[in-house]
Amino acid sequence: MNGQTVTVADHVRVGLLGCGNVGAALARLVDEHADLITARAGARVEIIRVAVRDLAKPRELKLPSTAFTDDPTSVVADPDIDVVVEVMGGVEPARGLIEAALRAGKPVVTANKELIARDGPELLRIAAASGVDLLFEASVAGGIPLMRPLRESLAGDRIRRVLGIVNGTTNFILTRMTEDGTTFADALGEAQRLGYAEADPTADVEGFDAASKAAIIATIAFGAPIGPDDVYREGITQVTADDIASARSLGYIVKLLAVAEEVGGDVAVRVHPAMVPVQHPLASVRDSFNAVFIEADAVGELMLYGRGAGGNPTASAVMGDLVDASRNLVAGARGATIGELVAKPIRPMADAESPFYIMVEAADRPGVLAAIATTFGDHGVSIKSMEQRGIGADARLVFITHRAREADLTATLDALRHVDVVTRVGSVIRVVGEED
Ligand code: NAP
Repeated sequence: MNGQTVTVADHVRVGLLGCGNVGAALARLVDEHADLITARAGARVEIIRVAVRDLAKPRELKLPSTAFTDDPTSVVADPDIDVVVEVMGGVEPARGLIEAALRAGKPVVTANKELIARDGPELLRIAAASGVDLLFEASVAGGIPLMRPLRESLAGDRIRRVLGIVNGTTNFILTRMTEDGTTFADALGEAQRLGYAEADPTADVEGFDAASKAAIIATIAFGAPIGPDDVYREGITQVTADDIASARSLGYIVKLLAVAEEVGGDVAVRVHPAMVPVQHPLASVRDSFNAVFIEADAVGELMLYGRGAGGNPTASAVMGDLVDASRNLVAGARGATIGELVAKPIRPMADAESPFYIMVEAADRPGVLAAIATTFGDHGVSIKSMEQRGIGADARLVFITHRAREADLTATLDALRHVDVVTRVGSVIRVVGEED
């Protein structure tokens, strides 16, 4: 191994890049849990340098002002730094700094989902070549232990599928819409007032944040390099209070799900609103909580639940990685590895399969149902159940299909729009967690 040797074996000196929500919470944890951390890491873990953007900002941390710098490169290059913790976010300069640290033989801990989703496989390769740890537990689902269970605890099992509620903002919004009947816009406003949503909520509500996490989950679960561009993505902006009420009346709860699965040697990864049966464990994950449901050959079904964001929960996950990296440094070893990533075919969304919920408005007269049912049948989509709800001269028909291919479903919807008795094809939502 060409990793760095710790010069003072009873001290691990940390360079912290970023001291915002997560970085400041980490600095407090390092201070408050010092003895516990020393016992577990086998060495005293000390933050000796901190890079921030604005040196004038008050920090209220038990760190000397001389520890702070606005030059993160100098922290990484400092020969006194044994481990680098990156919690500044964004792709650059974080990427270059992490790469420089790894190449210098320094283990890196990061919470940066955007970066790991994009460049994780390449950075893991560099870490492996340098013989040092690159740990990123906090990059997916904040405080919930997920990377380590996938990578270590389930290393001998074959993971079939991972279903995740991995974005607290959208789960909060959908919970409010479900429980209070509020509109998307009102629920988003409430999330923003409570600090759960950013002023620009695009990354959350359009599913970009969940897609980054889905890419990381798929990479680790299936040992294949999966990037955000491999993830099919739909957000929740089109979900209406009506859809949610209709889903509920049929026994489903609407959630934004990240779905990563291995099917016939292909990897399929997607993020979209999904109707989850009310009895499924994910249906009970409310408000801003996250949960990840794993299906594997030997262990069966497993669910991890907790806080997916917030300074303290995220710092807890970063701290776990930091203790791990410190322990390995002290032992002159490397931590768990996910092994070499091997490219696998990405299954196109057109070939993905699930049952679907479809709402169709049509003239309320004899023969209509037969015309619609024929259209489904012509495209190989079989109907599992149907409910009719009268709305004036028209009828609202709600269908749940058996498992169908996306491409066949799309062709069915196109054809339905040309059936003369159909006045509108409304919401279409995939059903997940109920195999037929
Ligand atoms: P944040 O509050 O915005 O903090 C960012 C920190 O990085 C600040 O201290 C900032 O300095 C510093 N920084 C930014 N750019 C810099 C640069 N070019 N040079 C030097 N310092 C720079 O962010 P956060 O919420 O702590 O999130 C940090 C990371 O954790 C992100 O990758 C995020 O995705 C990830 N994460 C966060 C959460 C969460 O709940 N917050 C959950 C999971 C993962 P100033 O203080 O001077 O502005």
